[in-house]
Amino acid sequence: MSVLIYIDHTEGQIKKGSLEALSYGAALARKLNTTAEALLLGTVKEELSTLGKYGIAKIHQAADESFNAADAQVIANAVSAAVSASGANVVIFSFNATGVAVAPRLAASLKAGLVAGAVALPETENGFIVKKTVFSGKASAKVKINSAVKIISLNANSFGIHEMGDTTAEINIVDITPTENKVKVLSTELIKGEVPLAEAEIVVSGGRGLKGPENWYLISDLAHELHGAIACSRPVADDGWRPHHEHVGQTGVQVAPNLYIAIGISGAIQHLGGVNRSKTIVVINKDADAPFFKAADYGIVGDAFEVVPKMIEAVKKL
Ligand code: FAD
Repeated sequence: MSVLIYIDHTEGQIKKGSLEALSYGAALARKLNTTAEALLLGTVKEELSTLGKYGIAKIHQAADESFNAADAQVIANAVSAAVSASGANVVIFSFNATGVAVAPRLAASLKAGLVAGAVALPETENGFIVKKTVFSGKASAKVKINSAVKIISLNANSFGIHEMGDTTAEINIVDITPTENKVKVLSTELIKGEVPLAEAEIVVSGGRGLKGPENWYLISDLAHELHGAIACSRPVADDGWRPHHEHVGQTGVQVAPNLYIAIGISGAIQHLGGVNRSKTIVVINKDADAPFFKAADYGIVGDAFEVVPKMIEAVKKL
């Protein structure tokens, strides 16, 4: 059994989630007593051989630049060709927008079993069993993949990025021709935040308790001091205080940071569905009965307009 990890990238940079997928795939390969290989479609600025430090023996690169803006079907076709050429039996993606769009297409074309949103290394003693979260992170399920090729997409921040040493990966340039894009990308607008939300290790999130967009400096100042990402509840985005790509929850972005700070958010079930895989949750709410406190590791019952400026001052002194 061999393991192939898909390297996702944007604007010439490898995404942080892919470094986690590389670490996960390398650990799985060690468990299966085989080698971990990776696939890069298109081009990146990084020196690819350095990815060996994550435990990757070989990187296959199809360097056609049109892959940089290819649609999900084109990527799935190319990964399928690479899987056939390399003989890989396990294919790993990040559970991000690319993974969500590409992995099911690949699974359909290879007639392979797929587990989307894995949170741990598979159990391999009695078959190939992958743990994933279900019911918006409230429970977990173990899913057995019986097909010859097995596909996994890995939830962000569930395994971590692990360097194995100072080894370099072998680069193998492969000749995979992109199939025709069914969708033509005319232009792209990159949303630039200080930290990408889905991959952030610290998230500072605000709700309707902030009263209006003019008070959002409380959220952005604290996020800036903590080097964290900014998020919000859905009504905040619906009311146009913040853009929709910042709204977390069942209908928004799913996050799993080390620290999630919820300020003036009630903690409705639909909000919790997107944040309850966070390792530590801090809630600031003036209502001691706000439901969010039940999900909190630490809670401050208080007015955000008094508490948050004190937090910002305290963080500045660290
Ligand atoms: P509110 O419920 O109005 O809560 C504001 C909170 O701020 C209150 O707890 C209040 O005590 C506190 N507060 C007020 N003033 C202060 C102050 N000065 N200092 C401190 N605290 C203060 N919501 C999401 O967030 N994400 C989703 O993905 C999502 N999906 C949904 C899907 C469906 C199908 C439905 C029906 C709803 C969904 N919702 C979602 C909406 C969700 O049900 C809640 O309505 C929403 O999360 C509430 O947002 P909020 O907590 O910001 O506002």
